[in-house]
Amino acid sequence: PERREFLDVNGIEVIYNHVILVLKGVSLRVAEGSIVALLGANGAGKTTTLRAVSNLLQAERGAVTKGSISLRGERIENLSPAALVERGVIQVMEGRHCFAHLSIEENLMTGAYTRRDGRAAVAQTLEKVYTYFPRLKTRRSSQAAYTSGGEQQMCAIGRALMANPRMVLLDEPSMGLAPQIVEEVFEIVKDLNTKEGVTFLLAEQNTRMALRYAHEGYILESGRVVMDGPVESLRENEDVKEFYLGMG
Ligand code: ATP
Repeated sequence: PERREFLDVNGIEVIYNHVILVLKGVSLRVAEGSIVALLGANGAGKTTTLRAVSNLLQAERGAVTKGSISLRGERIENLSPAALVERGVIQVMEGRHCFAHLSIEENLMTGAYTRRDGRAAVAQTLEKVYTYFPRLKTRRSSQAAYTSGGEQQMCAIGRALMANPRMVLLDEPSMGLAPQIVEEVFEIVKDLNTKEGVTFLLAEQNTRMALRYAHEGYILESGRVVMDGPVESLRENEDVKEFYLGMG
């Protein structure tokens, strides 16, 4: 089916501390209800691209200095991260960032702080999160610090879901996780996408896994998109095979 365009990043440049040019004109599109993967080596600019969209750049003295970012036609590059959350865009940061001293359930509940639709609705979302992440339900009372890396990644995604997002920006979900757990996390992402219609823009160094689960991919090198397209075509591309899938 034809998908409606959701996010349109158009020729953005990002500068840190007024001088370091990190993104050199990145353009990408995310259709509503799709999973789009940002691929590339360490330092290519994946995280910066996500932070430009959610505008968490401000916190690091970074800024979009050229180009535009639109969400359903509305320009958003100057909106605060909180205003983005209100529009249904939530970022899950790299490294998971659970509150170590809080229980899993308390962590999840912190994701609902912007909700204005009442406790019953929030409780319903919590139950829904538990149906997608049964492991979190089992561990609901455990302090996050004592849960596994995989459970913490699930907790970070679950917390984002508590805000009822339309789009989740997911930074390196596979980082530091055993292959089997990575697969489990990606399966849940796929389920959330197909059953709940959540749109995902995810940064991944695990090209193989990302190309298995995403619909579209963008490959970044030194702050530029060097290749993009449906994952089927990227998987067949000789350069991708050689440099990103280690099949050279
Ligand atoms: P990673 O896998 O490490 O997250 P990445 O592809 O996401 O890699 P970015 O984190 O976006 O890459 O970094 C892109 C470039 O910007 C790197 O060269 C990095 O050193 C630089 N950079 C990132 N954050 C800052 C900052 N706060 N100030 C200055 N330079 C930065």
